[in-house]
Amino acid sequence: MHDDRQLAEARLDRVLRERVRPAVYGRAVPLDVQVWHAPGEPVPFEYAVRQDYRPARIGEAWGPPWGTSWFRLSGRVPPEWAGETVEAVIDIGFVIERTGFLCEALAYTADGRPVKGINPRNAWLPVAAPAAGGEDVFFWVEAAANPIIHPIGVPTPLGDKETAGTAPLYRLLRMDLAVLDREVWELVQDMEVLDQLMHQLGAHEPRRHEILRALERALDVLDPLDVGSTAAEARARLAGVLAAPAQASAHRISAVGHAHIDSAWLWPLRETVRKVARTTANVTHLMDAEPGFRFAMSQAQQLAWLKEHHPAVYERVKRFVAGGQFVPTGGMWVEPDTNMPGGEAMARQFVHGKRFYAEEFGIETVDVWLPDSFGYSAALPQIIKLSGSRWFLTQKISWNQTNRFPHHTFWWEGIDGTRIFTHFPPVDTYNAELSAEELAHASRNYAEKGRGTRSLVPFGWGDGGGGPTREMVARARRTADLEGSPQVRMETPVEFFEAAAAEYPDPPVWVGELYLELHRGTYTSQARTKQGNRRSEHLLREAELWSATAAVAGLAGYPYDELDRLWKRVLLNQFHDILPGSSIAWVHREAEAAYAEIGAELEEIIQQAQQALAGRGERPVVFNGSPYARGGVPAFGATRAPEADASTTVMTIADGEFVMDNGLLRVTVDGDGLITSLRDLTAGREVLPPGARGNLLQLHKDLPISWDAWDVEGYYRNTVTDLVAAEEVAADDATAVRVVRAFGSSRVRQTLRLLPGARRLDIETEVDWGERERILKAAFPIDVRADRSAAEIQYGHVYRPAHANTSWDAAKFEICAHRWLHVGEPGYGVAVVNDSTYGHDVTRRPTPGGGTATTVRLSLLRAPRFPDPQTDQGMHRFRYAIAPGAAIGDAVREGYDLNLPPRTVRGAHGVRPLVSLEGEGVVVEAVKLADDRSGDLVVRLYECLGGRASVRLSCAVPVAETIETDLLERPLAGGRRPAAPDDELRLRPFEIVTLRLRRG
Ligand SMILES: [Zn+2]
Repeated sequence: MHDDRQLAEARLDRVLRERVRPAVYGRAVPLDVQVWHAPGEPVPFEYAVRQDYRPARIGEAWGPPWGTSWFRLSGRVPPEWAGETVEAVIDIGFVIERTGFLCEALAYTADGRPVKGINPRNAWLPVAAPAAGGEDVFFWVEAAANPIIHPIGVPTPLGDKETAGTAPLYRLLRMDLAVLDREVWELVQDMEVLDQLMHQLGAHEPRRHEILRALERALDVLDPLDVGSTAAEARARLAGVLAAPAQASAHRISAVGHAHIDSAWLWPLRETVRKVARTTANVTHLMDAEPGFRFAMSQAQQLAWLKEHHPAVYERVKRFVAGGQFVPTGGMWVEPDTNMPGGEAMARQFVHGKRFYAEEFGIETVDVWLPDSFGYSAALPQIIKLSGSRWFLTQKISWNQTNRFPHHTFWWEGIDGTRIFTHFPPVDTYNAELSAEELAHASRNYAEKGRGTRSLVPFGWGDGGGGPTREMVARARRTADLEGSPQVRMETPVEFFEAAAAEYPDPPVWVGELYLELHRGTYTSQARTKQGNRRSEHLLREAELWSATAAVAGLAGYPYDELDRLWKRVLLNQFHDILPGSSIAWVHREAEAAYAEIGAELEEIIQQAQQALAGRGERPVVFNGSPYARGGVPAFGATRAPEADASTTVMTIADGEFVMDNGLLRVTVDGDGLITSLRDLTAGREVLPPGARGNLLQLHKDLPISWDAWDVEGYYRNTVTDLVAAEEVAADDATAVRVVRAFGSSRVRQTLRLLPGARRLDIETEVDWGERERILKAAFPIDVRADRSAAEIQYGHVYRPAHANTSWDAAKFEICAHRWLHVGEPGYGVAVVNDSTYGHDVTRRPTPGGGTATTVRLSLLRAPRFPDPQTDQGMHRFRYAIAPGAAIGDAVREGYDLNLPPRTVRGAHGVRPLVSLEGEGVVVEAVKLADDRSGDLVVRLYECLGGRASVRLSCAVPVAETIETDLLERPLAGGRRPAAPDDELRLRPFEIVTLRLRRG
């Protein structure tokens, strides 16, 4: 027969676009519209509805950037619409392609109950089904003029209300009452599903042609001038092809309703509070109509916001949680970055997330939902397991620039050997629409074919898109058992994981971190946000430690409420666009302010506890919050005026060179202010390779391909400017050389300090940073032959190659470390330690005498211009240090030391440590009182060297019972710890142990 396939397809396109879709709302009348523009930040409903409203007309401009306008909509259903389904259709100026990233709204009833969100692809409000005819209609609509921050990469002032200007961004396009023609709506869904499916099938496949001819027969009976009365007959022509069942081997898809709502990103936190309300209002509304629909919501923080700001919607959510349709998931407080949060913070993400779900909904979540963070720490499997969770889901690794990850379902093994059953949805998105293209991609892409049959597809518009729509649910129903399509079931994440693990119990194993080969600039962008996180984590540790010590001694109460609130604030700011530095200026301005408040409050808590502990007096008492004894002060204790160290540092200056010598290290600084020799006097060894200079500041061009704040690309290394010219090099005192440099629009002042008795050289840095699209590195060439580096992560460390043998090795050209990074050869190593830097790189180069040396660089600052055009401009202060002759254990100790400096208060006496540890290789990470307020003491420790360890923990007060618990301080099933606290405690490599000590 003649091939008219393309003509038939083109005919369908036109009729669907121009006639069928517009006929869904064939009859409409305008609503009466009045408006009040709120002058500043969002206001409560009760306040908004009492303001003066004036008439508004369609076409009118509204919405200065970040403004809120309230609309008062009223009308009457025409009597002749009796029996029809009547809806309000609202378009406040939507740009359909930018769904989720522009204006949106929430509708309320006259008495203030939220009805439903209004989003570009979900712009209707329920009025009556069926209508009586003649009834009055009334809505309040709170519309947010969120600006479109687009295109990615173009600097814009719109990212902060302080710079965004006041010109209106949007125009009212439609505010109507309309009749929804259900039969036409169903016909649209039928035609779209079949049309999309047809295009996923090869032209050689009979099924493609069967669908096409069925569609053609439907068009033949459809009257383009009267779609409404011919829709049912057209649908009847499609029933046969829609009823053809799926092939026996069809891929099986668990479709999980979801809305990926970034807790802040191209909008501030306060807007996320409203985005959550709009989306959950939509989702719960859809649940009423679609009992089979399941929706998974991660980020306990967002539900906590809903509870606080929209209790009526929250009650709806609770009802659907109880019914199993609304599924809290993820088990964390937010979806955090997992590269940078410290161990204890990572644990608390789960503690606060899971506890919220347990207390609010009476459920224990067991699946970890993290589709969008920028790489996954190798510490996570153990943390997940110790939180009581079992499954892990992400898809971000599909964004890898270089290598394709080989598995979609696998065991993920962490640094300690814990394995977690993990799934990467092969659909490669967390905002699916359930289109045939997406479903077919999931099936084609799924790497486990022949062993497994299932994958998960998260569907729903994310961010400000409003979540899943009734159209998506319609697609899920039609593809449940449809020839040519994967089989789609609406399920929960746990239903998916249980089925996937049951059918595929022995999937492959991936060992170590899930490194994202992209977004490596997020270890460095927005340095002040990162510093705030690092500082807050250590202040929280000290606040818990000293408050617990004071409380157990009966000297003060334990600030449970304050610590709970402060922890949650720190956890929120670890969200995967805040801590990584990828948000608009507004978000980072608020993050810096938050960290200042958190810091002040924690300093006060620490001060009060230490004062209570030291008693009244005028003698200096030195507190040591580090887990290692130092300067004569025991770990977690305090000593009255510890004896002064007898050692000194001697400075000699000759021929423009400065030599500092403390008997352990001898440091030579040349007239350029660079280190020309770093001699380890104990080992009798020079740390720098021949001819190399240390602490060399280097500047690179840094304009990535598309994601400015996110990415540093490998080509940045092609050019470099060494900052060797110094304005000033001078001795500060016997222990320090001061170096001042000016370059570009920037100025840096560094103090190289060798303290008496110190085994490390500290470098204090002040930068007034005025560069654009540059990255600043500090380089330490080190004369060790290392083919890998060790970097601190949560509760341990991870090794990464220092070479570029394979594409996997080469892709790790920028890496994340917490407080330290270590390189070494047998018998000798060097640590580079920092107090707020995360980005590093490690390279190797030949040395003049033969062999290779290793260069460790810290990534100090970047200057991307999107989404914050002023990223990192201005003043920065931070410290880093180089510690020669350091084994891994020394690196761990120096990392704590630099981040937990001793504190001195005036008092009467020293303080005995509340807990102390005897033995090597184990670090106490947290000392606190139990969150259940029982007064029990909780101690968390971990093995830090990657080996076996045996230690004894002792406590300053009598202990009746010691119980091993999970991270949530619940007894661990099969807990095997000895009841007597002084008994030996054995740990396997990198094991985390939480002990609850019931006091006697
Ligand atoms: Zn995200």
